[in-house]
Amino acid sequence: MLSEKLKNLMNTQIKNEFESAYLYLSMAAYFESDSWEGMASWMKVQAQEEVNHAMKFYAHLQERDARVKLAGLTEPKFEWKSPLDAFKAAYAHEQFITGTLNNLMKLAVEESDYAAQGFLQLFVNEQVEEEASALKVVQMLERIGDSGNGMVMLDYKLGERGK
Ligand code: MG
Repeated sequence: MLSEKLKNLMNTQIKNEFESAYLYLSMAAYFESDSWEGMASWMKVQAQEEVNHAMKFYAHLQERDARVKLAGLTEPKFEWKSPLDAFKAAYAHEQFITGTLNNLMKLAVEESDYAAQGFLQLFVNEQVEEEASALKVVQMLERIGDSGNGMVMLDYKLGERGK
């Protein structure tokens, strides 16, 4: 069974992951409102991945005989200045999530909870990829600058994710 502290922090992580999904879905809606269909699609794939992350924590809590307790979600941001602004915010959000997972791992190590460590290690590893993929889009957008052609090409490329 999980300790009370780990149970509470994992329940908070369910909220964090759903809030990530909510944020990316809000970004998808923002992109869709400006006809960036590829970027919207990329964000919708990302949002679904975050729901999957939340459900893995849900399953781990259940498997460890700990009760899942859902918390209220914070309303996500609605508007961004530009695609670059939105992807920068996505990158910053992934860095925040990495921090929350590191805190969870720190606690699991302190408590010598090896099962939790094994479970969390997968998330810690995946965060490297999550941060890298968001940063890559930020860097491409910075390189593109005001080029309309570049933006259309990038939008097309990002739309291929998950297809
Ligand atoms: Mg996640």
